[in-house]
Amino acid sequence: MTTSNYPDIRLLIANEWVDATGGKTIPVLNPASGKTIGTVAHAAIADLDRALEAARKGFEAWRAIPAAERAATMRRAATLLRERAGDIARLMTQEQGKPLAEARVEVMAGAEIIDWFAAEGMRVYGRIVPARNPAAQQLVLKEPVGPVAAFTPWNFPINQVVRKLAAALATGCSFLCKAPEETPASPAALFQCFVDAGVPAGTVGLVFGDPAEISGYLIPHPVIRKVTFTGSTPVGKQLAALAGAHMKRATMELGGHAPVIVAEDADVALAVKAAGAAKFRNAGQVCISPTRFLVHNSIKAEFVRAMAAHAEGLKLGDGLAEGTTLGPLANDRRLAAMAKVVEDAQAKGAQVVTGGKRVGSEGNFFAPTILSDVPLEASVFNDEPFGPVAAVRGFDTLEEAITEANRLPYGLAGYAFTRSIKNAQQLMNRLEVGMLWMNQPATPSAELPFGGVKDSGYGSEGGPEALEAYLNTKAVSMVGV
Ligand code: NAD
Repeated sequence: MTTSNYPDIRLLIANEWVDATGGKTIPVLNPASGKTIGTVAHAAIADLDRALEAARKGFEAWRAIPAAERAATMRRAATLLRERAGDIARLMTQEQGKPLAEARVEVMAGAEIIDWFAAEGMRVYGRIVPARNPAAQQLVLKEPVGPVAAFTPWNFPINQVVRKLAAALATGCSFLCKAPEETPASPAALFQCFVDAGVPAGTVGLVFGDPAEISGYLIPHPVIRKVTFTGSTPVGKQLAALAGAHMKRATMELGGHAPVIVAEDADVALAVKAAGAAKFRNAGQVCISPTRFLVHNSIKAEFVRAMAAHAEGLKLGDGLAEGTTLGPLANDRRLAAMAKVVEDAQAKGAQVVTGGKRVGSEGNFFAPTILSDVPLEASVFNDEPFGPVAAVRGFDTLEEAITEANRLPYGLAGYAFTRSIKNAQQLMNRLEVGMLWMNQPATPSAELPFGGVKDSGYGSEGGPEALEAYLNTKAVSMVGV
């Protein structure tokens, strides 16, 4: 089912695609077959030095362009992305595994995000502050922070980059990204859209290689003024500490373990439809994926039956195959992790209602899984599963459910289903999350803040807050002489 048109990916430095110094490469695998489909260049330190110098020059050139012209260039990139969406989606499915339709939605959503940030970049206003000295004028200026180092993961090869990239470019920053080595072709195609749209050389740069080596070199480097990372909480804490040691601004979008509270008065069919679809999207490899299902005991049996029917109705297969609704896991680490999660839950007394096993012996296919009566000490109720596993427990009072939802150090997304305004207000005010969706699936659009609290990180990747993350504030007070 795989096609052979997967390109070898090189480094993007000063608007040129180049091989790594020394010619080192890393193989790229198709998770549906386990077979190598291409390679990606592995940057050496000399390449990072050239990319940094390009980002320094790119920043000077890009920041000097008026916001309206920058916005026009960004809109051209968004148009190119839309025109190329079909081809880019095929690349993404081959390298990441998600069904083609999901890949296409991700690419098209990327174009929308670019358009939104392009427009918002024209609304970066300073202000005039009345002065105590009548002879003085006081201004607050907003300036781009400078060249940005970004580190993005493999689960949404375009979406995870584009939120950072679009916000950084909209404010006048240059953007040097280490994108995932496992899924390099779709981010490379995104960056090509910006090159073709006419950004000055060095405004955008793309490197791949050893993640720890690259972050260890870029974050302390004096050219870099801002760090942004999406990935796991342990890695995020390391990178945040490094950024702190070098006094670099940082945005951290880290792991989550989203509670789904289904109250006694919930519309169960709606909860299953909304949370079920969200659970298995991208095979559950989503930071805002619903993971801890807390269901009122009076409706738990009905909920579990309906979730199992939903899971069994999914079509597992190669993302390029017609009709596939659930692709393979993106890499074999997740396959091993899922087997362990299920085994641990079962050993601690949980019931496997459906799934729970690898499917086939080729590719990273894991059956959509529903676990019920999961004890709190099971690892699936404590560590982010990041896979197609839904863990369900019952509760008797909303108080109990809120306490459980807030128990973990994570605080990214939460979901709740209830018909009562009283319950909704309780949930809205008391859940320790950065994003809460009630009686609906997640709708993380560009205009809404996107980010977490507690161990899920800090900073926002949506709304005006996302631009603020790339801006310095300068206060000026002047007296004319
Ligand atoms: P991992 O923790 O090794 O890597 C996560 C991401 O961070 C990858 O993209 C990786 O390339 C990058 N990374 C790792 N070490 C780095 C370093 N020192 N400097 C810069 N980047 C670094 O784990 P993994 O096996 O790739 O993914 C598993 C876990 O990561 C999941 O369980 C999930 O918790 C988390 N994850 C979260 C997101 C998200 O959207 N928040 C995305 C992907 C993975």
